[in-house]
Amino acid sequence: MSTRGEFGFIDFIKGHFPCPDGICGIGDDCAVIPSSEGDLLFSTDLLMEGVHFLRDESSPEDVGWKAAAVNISDIAAMGGIPVATFLSIALPEDAQGEWAERFMEGYAQISRRYDVPLLGGDTTSSLRDIAVNVGILGRCQAGKCLMRSSAKVGETIYVTGPLGDSAGGLQVILKGLERSEEMNVLVNRHKRPVPRVREGQMLMESGKVSAMMDISDGIASDLRHIMKASGVGAVVALDRLPCSPELLSVCDGQGWDRYGLQTSGGEDFELLFTGPAGLEYELDFHIYPIGETVCGNALTWTVNEEPVDFDYNGYTHF
Ligand code: ADP
Ligand code: MG
Repeated sequence: MSTRGEFGFIDFIKGHFPCPDGICGIGDDCAVIPSSEGDLLFSTDLLMEGVHFLRDESSPEDVGWKAAAVNISDIAAMGGIPVATFLSIALPEDAQGEWAERFMEGYAQISRRYDVPLLGGDTTSSLRDIAVNVGILGRCQAGKCLMRSSAKVGETIYVTGPLGDSAGGLQVILKGLERSEEMNVLVNRHKRPVPRVREGQMLMESGKVSAMMDISDGIASDLRHIMKASGVGAVVALDRLPCSPELLSVCDGQGWDRYGLQTSGGEDFELLFTGPAGLEYELDFHIYPIGETVCGNALTWTVNEEPVDFDYNGYTHF
């Protein structure tokens, strides 16, 4: 199985479980199920101790925030409204008291902020590691969800905000660096991602966006999902990727590869989408054009409008 990689395994599953007519199943940020009240959205994400968070490095409140945030972001990625979450949690003995209660405090903070109630779940013990799975239900106007598969050749590719902060924050944590103010900003972006729910809805309501997804694995990987699902190629200008002043400064100081972090790091949870040129002048919030869709299936990176040899692939689990 491991030779197929994470996405090869998902393709394997998809091949064995055909999707019922009228439903969008495996392959997008959420499944989309039409109903008489509009489209229902459903998604689920698993967070494993040691893989997605380290108990020594993340406060329980931060883990609780992030567990809900990554799911709310998948609803945002369709242009939807989050309705409710469901939380399943496996707790080893040493996390069953204070850790679990503090986890729930972080989960409650983001649930209040986005007005999403927790409506159910499951609780079990675990032999060693903490595992957290969140399922989320959302809704969207019938037929209006923004899928990954609707990009067309000749469109502009946009993102909603700076890329690479979360990856920079993770590096600060992993390297155990003494933290400057800028580094603290990056670490906070890594621990407390802010799903772009309002932006996702406004993009959906604009009627101008063709395809959309959220950036969880880095654009080097995530843009390829839109390309594959839509049958388009892409040209992306590395020197047009929005970058926070904090990341710029930390990369300069540490000698880090900024473009590597910005394309492959993931977990920024900004939205990545395609639409007509000039959309940045039409909306009430900032969006950043970073490239164009083209014929074919290749992803070309440029600097100063010239193609560059740049080979980053984004994060995959195996
Ligand atoms: P995201 O990063 O948006 O959460 P993923 O890359 O994790 O999406 O998953 C890609 C697609 O594959 C999604 O539609 C997801 O529902 C589906 N998927 C992933 N793992 C499984 C699985 N074990 N069984 C069925 N579908 C899966
Ligand atoms: Mg997603």
